[in-house]
Amino acid sequence: MTRPLEDLASPYLRGLIPYSPGKPIQEVERELGIRDSVKLASNENPLGPSPLALAALRDALADIHRYPDGSGYRLSQALAKHWDVSSDMVILGNGSNELLELAGRCFLMPGEEAVYAKQAFIVYDMVAQVTGATKVAVPLKNFTHDLEAMRAAISPRTKLVFVANPNNPTGTAVPPRALEDFLAAVPPDVLVIVDEAYYEYLPPDLVPDTLRFVRTGRLVLLLRTFSKIYGLAGLRIGYGIGPAPLIALLNRARQPFNTNSLAQAAATAALRDEQHVASTRRITEAGLRYLAEQCRALGLSVVPSAANFLLVDVGRPGPATADALLRHGVIVRPMAGYGFLTHLRISIGTPPENERCIAALKAVLGK
Ligand SMILES: *Cc1c(COP(=O)(O)O)cnc(C)c1O
Repeated sequence: MTRPLEDLASPYLRGLIPYSPGKPIQEVERELGIRDSVKLASNENPLGPSPLALAALRDALADIHRYPDGSGYRLSQALAKHWDVSSDMVILGNGSNELLELAGRCFLMPGEEAVYAKQAFIVYDMVAQVTGATKVAVPLKNFTHDLEAMRAAISPRTKLVFVANPNNPTGTAVPPRALEDFLAAVPPDVLVIVDEAYYEYLPPDLVPDTLRFVRTGRLVLLLRTFSKIYGLAGLRIGYGIGPAPLIALLNRARQPFNTNSLAQAAATAALRDEQHVASTRRITEAGLRYLAEQCRALGLSVVPSAANFLLVDVGRPGPATADALLRHGVIVRPMAGYGFLTHLRISIGTPPENERCIAALKAVLGK
């Protein structure tokens, strides 16, 4: 008798709960027989990709029979220039997700500890789980990273700390000074990953100087992405900025062609498109204000957001409410998986999409 497949797999895999992504629009429409639905579920850019990125993609298409530049030379150079660091401080990833996993694989061993917030991006928990590391999940305080408690949770066994700023799914950002003090206080042999997927959405008074820690050689890895404000989620491209020795170490374990040629070309062009970034910021700020005001007018409480989505307490079970909204063609994410049983996470859309969302909420809540 052969052993069950489950027994052949790594024991750490057995406890792994697969990531559940927001449903693709096409699937929802097929299932429910509806059309013209709006997806406000994955924090994507509702304006679409930058026209410059699309043009670069078209130019790059003819060369897809070639392997990509494994070092991502042009994009790394462009990013280095953009952030005023040297290009050996930049690593590209197949989405920043890949870099989270790569860092976990490079640093975490069974018995060592990973510290992160309990209601932060679920991937940190998954990375700790598959590597067999001990998970130290620190509860949020008032929907925000409790940096003091996280600092206190660091032990001699701690190898890796994850901080999402702004956090997903709450949208909250920590005060810049608090994050900087935290980074300064973490022992120098503990790697801190600051996941800044929504960095470009931060209001000016909430932008921390995280690069300073990288420049001074602290064991800090900043993760940023082209999936959110740059509107390239489907291409899978993100990057990390860290001290050169850390980047060299991560590069040793990286797949040689982890980012594809189309993604590299599009991202290089998108980085230059300041106008696209600026208009995205503008419509996001306005949309956030609109959604928050409308929700409050419906008597719902919202968590103040520094990102491109809003966590809303609908005061009744979130999953059933999200299902009801689906029937109105509005796709949002219930957050019960994070322990927010009555909350929905709503991505900011275009003005008409936001209006659709509020109209559907009114209908579903009977208001
Ligand atoms: C969306 C998101 C990412 C980005 O993932 P990609 O792999 O770059 O698409 C990373 N971290 C957080 C917290 C996110 O919400």
